Amino acid sequence: MRTEDIITQTEKHDTEIYKPLPIVISEAEGVWVKDPEGNKYLDMLSAYSAVNQGHRHPKIIQALKDQADKVTLTSRSFHVDCLGEWYEKLSQISGKNRVLPMNTGAEAVESAIKVARRWAYDIKGVVDNKAEVIAMKNNFHGRTMIPLSMSSEVAYKRGFGPLGDGFKIVDYGDPKALEDAITENTAAVILEPIQGEAGVNIPPVGYLKQVREICDKHNVLFISDEIQAGLGRAGKMFATDWDNVVPDMYILGKALGGGVFPVSVVLGDDEVMGVLDEGSHGSTFGGNPLAAKVSQAALDVIVDENLAERSIELGEYLLAQLKEIKHDSIVDIRGRGLFIGLELNKSARHFCEELKDEGVLCKETHGTVVRFAPPLVVTKEELDWAVEKVKKVFDKG
Ligand code: PLP
Repeated sequence: MRTEDIITQTEKHDTEIYKPLPIVISEAEGVWVKDPEGNKYLDMLSAYSAVNQGHRHPKIIQALKDQADKVTLTSRSFHVDCLGEWYEKLSQISGKNRVLPMNTGAEAVESAIKVARRWAYDIKGVVDNKAEVIAMKNNFHGRTMIPLSMSSEVAYKRGFGPLGDGFKIVDYGDPKALEDAITENTAAVILEPIQGEAGVNIPPVGYLKQVREICDKHNVLFISDEIQAGLGRAGKMFATDWDNVVPDMYILGKALGGGVFPVSVVLGDDEVMGVLDEGSHGSTFGGNPLAAKVSQAALDVIVDENLAERSIELGEYLLAQLKEIKHDSIVDIRGRGLFIGLELNKSARHFCEELKDEGVLCKETHGTVVRFAPPLVVTKEELDWAVEKVKKVFDKG
């Protein structure tokens, strides 16, 4: 079938919650994808950073195949032989000694909030049902009810109430606003160390350290949602590493499954994660053997191929190249590692459509920001090629 027919067929029954660019991807390898007509495109979105290791990385696919031939799902009612090994890897990377395995990002966020609330009641001594969590303006933590309850985005929430109670929103990057919002009932602060969906918003240097200090001072948990910015995307294994900060809980997803399988986790230490006991949480698919093996390979690739270091080096290069482009419509170009936002004073959607016609795939975020986040295995030459295409689109007008 041809591109147009496939789109028509899909749209006939689709619940139209997305507005994809008019392209069909039928094959992918590394940083490149192909449409049914055989046209090639450079993927500069990486499935919102879920494909940091590149499409169909051979080691990750091999892990998937090998495990598929052994056992794929048992539920957590029985032990499996590969969970412990994966936990060890996660613990070694994060320094945390407890892993709570889930599937999607939003689910892991929900889980972290459950942990934080129970910690507030059982350990901190907050009065029952009074626990508060502080989130940041313009955050994005997913689309299920708890992430929505923390969202400041009216359009995301419209028509879905009543939402959950117990959340406050403060300005991102403002430590005073955070400290002022803390009360004796505050259980946790949750933030993205770089706000991805908001348009690659990078907080001021030192802010994350201040958040850590404020949390320590008031006995409040610090939850870092590293689902998009972590695992090498922003040039470090965890984006909080930029401020040499260790949160009480890390939330990981997306690239944790190597672009192959939905895998997410909450990582923390005994003092925090220990509040969960038998029957207090669970997931049929969370921690399944296929996920564990795929994720183990996904983590190995990030470490063995130095993807975080590559991201810093290539990100600095790409940012410098993009900053050389001078055009009236450019408002700002910012980034950390290969996580770059190009802000325009006009619709970024139209820009992405034009870029697609040149063979580069990006997606607009927040209306006016083009996010450049290619797989971290991209080469300098491929980035040069992409920059030429970006220039060409700017040259058009
Ligand atoms: N948190 C952050 C920072 C994200 O960027 C996303 C997805 O974009 C999520 C949570 C939600 O993840 P998922 O779409 O897997 O539920």
